[in-house]
Amino acid sequence: MIALSPRSLDEAVRHLESDPALVPVAGCTDLMVRGPEALHDIDRVIDLLGIPELRGIREVDGGLGGLEIGAATTFSEIRSSAAVRAAFPSLVDAAGQVGGWQIQNRATLGGNMANASPAGDSLPVLLALDAVAVVAGPRGQREIPYSGFHTGYRKTALEPGEIIVRVRLPRLPEGSIQRFRKVGTREAQAISKVVVALVGRIEDGRIAELRLAAGSVAAVPVRLRKAEEAVRGEAPGAEAAGLAGRAAAEEVQPIDDVRSTAEYRSFALERVVRRMVLGLI
Ligand SMILES: Cc1cc2nc3c(=O)[nH]c(=O)nc-3n(C[C@H](O)[C@H](O)[C@H](O)COP(=O)(O)OP(=O)(O)OC[C@H]3O[C@@H](n4cnc5c(N)ncnc54)[C@H](O)[C@@H]3O)c2cc1C
Repeated sequence: MIALSPRSLDEAVRHLESDPALVPVAGCTDLMVRGPEALHDIDRVIDLLGIPELRGIREVDGGLGGLEIGAATTFSEIRSSAAVRAAFPSLVDAAGQVGGWQIQNRATLGGNMANASPAGDSLPVLLALDAVAVVAGPRGQREIPYSGFHTGYRKTALEPGEIIVRVRLPRLPEGSIQRFRKVGTREAQAISKVVVALVGRIEDGRIAELRLAAGSVAAVPVRLRKAEEAVRGEAPGAEAAGLAGRAAAEEVQPIDDVRSTAEYRSFALERVVRRMVLGLI
């Protein structure tokens, strides 16, 4: 096994350029549970944890432009960041639901994104927050709007040799409301059956802005556009909440798998969306 430990992004990119088959590793909480056969095939890894450009949380324009979170930032670091708590509490809520604290101490935001499980807890939050992924590879750096990051079941828009450097979360307008809800088998250490994130804003007694995103209900995390459209401009309340919940359940076709049934997922999605939209009052 060859393990490279670059100390800068440039050095990492050079290694990846000369050997695109290098496997990036961060907290290893996904990689190490892939099973002996998958691990047997990995013989060259590049450790991302020592690259300063991938670590930490930074305010853009003193916070006016939002935040940038390094891809190798752990969920524990996200949970304990005052800046993330103040600007993006839904991401803090999601970080607190990723496994137990032992996992949160190692698991990184970039690893959750690149692993691209449809059940990844942070993914609907990033979608609802209109995040942008900054990635680097042999052809330099580029930005990928998060809405285009997941291209299929466990597939991403990353090209060979590319790594995620950081995630930009644009600042939300004053008065924005954020919510996160994970439905699992139990309160702790559960992979989600359904996970939903909401960003909304009420103006003059009407729903002026609503972004809803869900995970575990399709091959990729999805925006619930029909539910959003059903209630945009409506007065918040039971009627709007019911409309949004029904539209959400109608627009996705979840599947049965080991964690849940399609029927339960639709039922849970309708309820979670309804309650979240009701909470906008
Ligand atoms: C017991 C247990 C419980 C868990 N519970 C949850 C849970 O509740 N919710 C949840 O969402 N997840 C859960 N997970 C999954 C896992 O912890 C997360 O997906 C985590 O965020 C992965 O991050 P990592 O740094 O450990 O990634 P790694 O395991 O290091 O890497 C995962 C994948 O991402 C790639 N990668 C990592 N970083 C980058 C980067 N910067 N650029 C490009 N590619 C990269 C790697 O090559 C690999 O393919 C759990 C895992 C375990 C073992």
